[in-house]
Amino acid sequence: MRLAHRRATLRLEAPFTISRSTSVEEHVLWVELEHDGVSGFGEAQPQEHYGESVEGAEAFLVEAEGVLGDDPFALEAIGERLASLPGNRAAKAALDGALHDLVGKLLGQPVWRLLGLVPAGPPTSWTVWLGDPDDMARRAEAVGDRFRRLKLKLGGRDGLDVERVRAVRGVTELPLQVDVNEYWELEEAVEAVGELAGLGVEYVEQPLPAGDPGGARLKRESPLPIYVDEDCHTLADVPACAERGHGVNIKLAKSGGLREAVRMAHAARALGLGVMLGCMVESGLGIAAAAQIGSLCDHLDLDGNLLLAEDPWPGVAFVDGVQVPADRPGLGVEPA
Ligand SMILES: [Mg+2]
Repeated sequence: MRLAHRRATLRLEAPFTISRSTSVEEHVLWVELEHDGVSGFGEAQPQEHYGESVEGAEAFLVEAEGVLGDDPFALEAIGERLASLPGNRAAKAALDGALHDLVGKLLGQPVWRLLGLVPAGPPTSWTVWLGDPDDMARRAEAVGDRFRRLKLKLGGRDGLDVERVRAVRGVTELPLQVDVNEYWELEEAVEAVGELAGLGVEYVEQPLPAGDPGGARLKRESPLPIYVDEDCHTLADVPACAERGHGVNIKLAKSGGLREAVRMAHAARALGLGVMLGCMVESGLGIAAAAQIGSLCDHLDLDGNLLLAEDPWPGVAFVDGVQVPADRPGLGVEPA
């Protein structure tokens, strides 16, 4: 197999703010794997927060080309060889996506079908990024009925997080989920989850810093389900997440791709955990990979490509709030 990759910049429709950062554009890598004249594509969105970078991913891909081998169908063996190289999960996810795209195209089947799944899933949430309560309410109101649930970014560290949710609750009947991105301390979290329960919030994502020793107590005392995100990267993390969360947020850029994500979903089920599938700010190429396994999940947060000014990889259909993967071979997306 021949591997090529190039940098790309994704421009956001509007600046996107969470507790730890604001961005107007995101830098990604697109990889192309060619075999027998057929090409598969995948996207890497390296996360600085996890010590990854576009430069690091590029260096990793040069090294990874040497262990891919010549059989794109040997997904498990390729995955094991890639796992022997440290880190760079976003780049691994890009290779995993490109391999699945390639295999699907070689067989003339969509990836969801190869996985024995259906092209469906719960509606995606739409992210209302962190801002003042009024501002968040205005943006939530503007969503109208385009989306069927909202995910509010919290973690303002200004004592206004519950107010943010109350303001949004005042303008919409949509189900609300909140994501604190590790910005609460234990006592603050215990108090806030009680108030959020009264506002009809469905669940709270990553209220405490990853690894926070208060996680087990918060799980015990919270009237709302806690979903962990920054705490949960790969299969090996899932058992410990059961002690601090009621569910896990799986992302391909953390897991290293679809195969590990599917293993994580099943492990989470075995531990009685809910399964959420999230994304970074990604183009349709990254979102298409995740959308293939949407039917395995309870909650989806796959709005990455919808946050962009323009999606350079169209093909995922947004139908009645659901991100539906195409009925075309591979991941089902093409460059615009
Ligand atoms: Mg999150």
